[in-house]
Amino acid sequence: MDSIDIEISEVGPRDGLQSIAPIMSTADKKAWISALAAAGIPEIEVGSFVPAKVLPQLADTAELVSHAKGIAGLAVAVLVPNLRGAQDALAVGPDKMTIPLSVSETHSLKNLKRTHEQVLEEVRGIRAAIDLLPAQSRPKLEGSLSTAFGCTLEGRVPEAKVLEMAEKLLAAGCDEVGLSDTTGFANPVQVRDYTRHIWELLGRDKLTGIHLHNTRGQGLANVMAALEVGLTTIDASMGGIGGCPFAPGASGNIVTEDLVFLLESQGLRTGVNFEALWHARTVLARGLPGVELYGFTPDAGLPKDFIAATPQ
Ligand code: ZN
Repeated sequence: MDSIDIEISEVGPRDGLQSIAPIMSTADKKAWISALAAAGIPEIEVGSFVPAKVLPQLADTAELVSHAKGIAGLAVAVLVPNLRGAQDALAVGPDKMTIPLSVSETHSLKNLKRTHEQVLEEVRGIRAAIDLLPAQSRPKLEGSLSTAFGCTLEGRVPEAKVLEMAEKLLAAGCDEVGLSDTTGFANPVQVRDYTRHIWELLGRDKLTGIHLHNTRGQGLANVMAALEVGLTTIDASMGGIGGCPFAPGASGNIVTEDLVFLLESQGLRTGVNFEALWHARTVLARGLPGVELYGFTPDAGLPKDFIAATPQ
């Protein structure tokens, strides 16, 4: 979109909620998704097609996709762990499907119960299922390189392995790959280097976004590195909720509200209206009573005489 410099992909309804025990009602989730879209958030990952018994919090994902698809201009994204989940997703027609592949194979076995080769086989199956659809209704398929910057189980993850898996995901049928700091290990130099090296190997159009956590307080520093190198889509979660239930200690996505302020304050248009963003936060808080929401900007407020890059 011409009116946006950096696209924020809100992952709160999926990555945020998946690690939160109290179930948010479907009505409250719909209200939150609508409020986020009304604030100008261009893309929302509304859920994950995992079995309801594994993640009861996300059991209503299909209904949320249908709701979100009714919102004009919103890109509707979902996570799919495998072909089975992708088939359920395709039945409701999201704009984008993300399949995670943990570069750490130990994490992959624990998280997805699959080896790398088994995940790649799922990707090939998903590609085939997508290609059966008419061209105009095919969702974009992204392979997310999770634990790319390190793993709570394996520790260091070699960059060579990240590049190898990026190449294999594309060969298996993904349209694009994404770098994902599932565990909050990343530093800005890694973010720049990994992005550049994937671009050199596979082409710039094959990697446009990054998924960062703030587990060690490096989230916004890593965003700056992503901006400097030229990535254009940044994942974030309203109120910084969430983490990975299978990566102990890996809590907290970067906070959408603080990210919007970081971008807008340096002249980068996100398309977001602050008043409407604060309202969406209120809607989230109402739907999740007792759950702590993070973020500095919502607490401190915008600076006096602040002028956003996006016309308010
Ligand atoms: Zn995450």
